Amino acid sequence: MTTTPIVPELPDTKGLQRLDTAHYLHPFTDHAALAQKGARVMVRGDGIYLWDSDGRKALDAMSGLWCVNVGYGRRSITEAVARQMDTLPFYNSFFNTTTIPAVQLAAKLAKIAPAGFNHVFFTGSGSEANDTNVRMVRRYWDLAGQPERTVIISRHNAYHGSTMAGASLGGMSGMHVQGGLPIPGIVHIEQPHYADYGAGMTPEEFGIHAAGWLEERIRELGPDKVAAFIGEPVQGAGGVIIPPSTYWPEIRRICDKYDVLLIADEVITGFGRLGTWFASDLYGMRPDLITFAKGVTSGYVPLGGVLVGDRVADLLIKGGDFNHGFTYSGHPVACAAALENIRILEEEGLVDRVAHDTGPYLQQRFGSLAAHPLVGTADSLGFVAGLTLVRRKAANVHQQVRFDPALGAGMLCRAHMFDNGVIMRAVGDRMIIAPPLVMTRDQVDEMIQKIRFCLDLTLADAMERGWL
Ligand code: PMP
Repeated sequence: MTTTPIVPELPDTKGLQRLDTAHYLHPFTDHAALAQKGARVMVRGDGIYLWDSDGRKALDAMSGLWCVNVGYGRRSITEAVARQMDTLPFYNSFFNTTTIPAVQLAAKLAKIAPAGFNHVFFTGSGSEANDTNVRMVRRYWDLAGQPERTVIISRHNAYHGSTMAGASLGGMSGMHVQGGLPIPGIVHIEQPHYADYGAGMTPEEFGIHAAGWLEERIRELGPDKVAAFIGEPVQGAGGVIIPPSTYWPEIRRICDKYDVLLIADEVITGFGRLGTWFASDLYGMRPDLITFAKGVTSGYVPLGGVLVGDRVADLLIKGGDFNHGFTYSGHPVACAAALENIRILEEEGLVDRVAHDTGPYLQQRFGSLAAHPLVGTADSLGFVAGLTLVRRKAANVHQQVRFDPALGAGMLCRAHMFDNGVIMRAVGDRMIIAPPLVMTRDQVDEMIQKIRFCLDLTLADAMERGWL
């Protein structure tokens, strides 16, 4: 059950903002702009709601950063963490040692993971997990007697983290231009983004076509050089891009044909977000490795990892030392939080609820936003959803007229949402959500009503500015 945490006294917002500006370098932030406005200070969460230091309440339609799957204020997770901290706050798993929560969580993950996944490598984050993937697939091919297979193929506009390998695997041009990325041995193909690249095709035809870009690249590189292909089942940070149903089965076929390992980055899609424990099940991807983080602990404490399929695990285990690992691999407190989080997901049937009740309901209600004059398309899958702001609507997505990106229509819309009590994220002109899985039907209604109100405000603003 969600219990209401103690309400803290409201702190001095201005004072905190001054200290924040003076000392805190935020992730992915323009600090000059932040200093001008001052950071919003979040102080409390309960269920799907947050409160800031001025006492303003917000409906968190982004689950923090795609992670607070069981909602805020779960006392039982706090208690599990406190118990573990009292008993053994830390021990490592390096030198022939292990801890009870790490073992229990590894066994639990093997139970809920797709068939053929019986091992896990723990990390502290999704980025570290993807770095682990790079090292693991190269180690695998080394042990398999094909050390030339080192190249990893990813996609433009993918997000796989912020470390050197994570950002390189990702396909974010804004990240690549800073610091000489990608690192060698990582290449990118185009994403399966129907609205951008599928003109003249049905979505199903486009899915096959887009998967074909992988085959082309494998042939160009030479199959004996390619170690793996990595992809998010549904691209998250890239703008909630849901691929056509034909895409992943065709990718699987191509990986089989050229014996290329397939990595599903399920940092967002894992732990129930799409109405299955893992999206790999939904899409029949049958990956060899699965990256996870975020929803494994609902973000209460950091934890990530790689679920390692039997093909890779068997060889790795036979191969002697794999010289890789982190101080916090299998951190007992994080693992205790994950065990309790998974227990909650199971006990409350949240994964099934998203699949059969609130997910379809969200699809219907969120889909209704497509009727708004400012919205081109509005689609969702499970508990991720995205809508595209357009200058001119058309039934055919390829005939819709977009805003000039320089106008920043998405940022304008996001500001209205933020000021009116709903947290939604903007990726260009795509407005996206990933609500906590505990959101009820009534709360879906409340969220849609708020979003519609803010779309009206954005429309009025856009008209006043002469954008339409
Ligand atoms: N992969 C995906 C698909 C993600 O969405 C993210 C984070 N948004 C990461 C990896 C990186 O995870 P972290 O921020 O925990 O390093």
